[in-house]
Amino acid sequence: MSIAIAIDGPAGAGKSTIARAAAKHLGYIYVDTGAMYRAIGLYCIRKGVLPTDTDAVVSLLDEISVSLARDEEGNQLIILCGEDVSAFIRTEEVSMAASRVSAIPQVRAFLLSLQRDMAKEYNVIMDGRDIGTVVLPDAKVKIFLTASAEIRARRRYDELVAKGENVVYDDVLADVIERDNNDMNRPIAPLKPAEDSIIVDTSELDLQQSIDLLVSTIEENSK
Ligand code: C5P
Repeated sequence: MSIAIAIDGPAGAGKSTIARAAAKHLGYIYVDTGAMYRAIGLYCIRKGVLPTDTDAVVSLLDEISVSLARDEEGNQLIILCGEDVSAFIRTEEVSMAASRVSAIPQVRAFLLSLQRDMAKEYNVIMDGRDIGTVVLPDAKVKIFLTASAEIRARRRYDELVAKGENVVYDDVLADVIERDNNDMNRPIAPLKPAEDSIIVDTSELDLQQSIDLLVSTIEENSK
């Protein structure tokens, strides 16, 4: 039987970087479910459909296919209708669109089976918002990875500036808070720690310390 580790938490807690590194260390396949929502958000933007227009988004689902692939180094690629869109899904515009479409029940249902199938087939570290609560309620270890909104916005700001994007810290912080609100207050699969999850707060930790803490937490709890 395959082993699943669920990692949930708010935007910008460093989940993907930390979980990817931990997966590499532990020999698990890393699955970034946020990338799937981002792909659907990107599709809406490209089609000129407002991500808040539920009916229009739902009607696009018939023509959308989303899948995951790996490059030579084992990094996850996100494939949207046959196109590798990994390079286009990390903008603020796509982040917000992903957050909006993820509140639509049909979008969540569309991605759920894909996510569960991956966990059936492989030992996975799966990261998202509802992995421990909805997608993999029987996961061996559930972690809620978090950090303060200000620290998360600072990290995101530094990341965007390093990519050459022209951003203002206060705007990034406002986006982080807005996404937290969207994610925590939606009626379906809201962001919240599973009752049996372990809270890991990285506010005071650097990247390596966060990775080490995640690895040791998984090792201790998956025996
Ligand atoms: O993790 P990431 O920031 O890439 O996720 C993008 C958006 O997708 C989040 O703001 C959240 O609204 C949504 N999401 C979700 N459920 C997941 C993963 C992501 O609702 N399992």
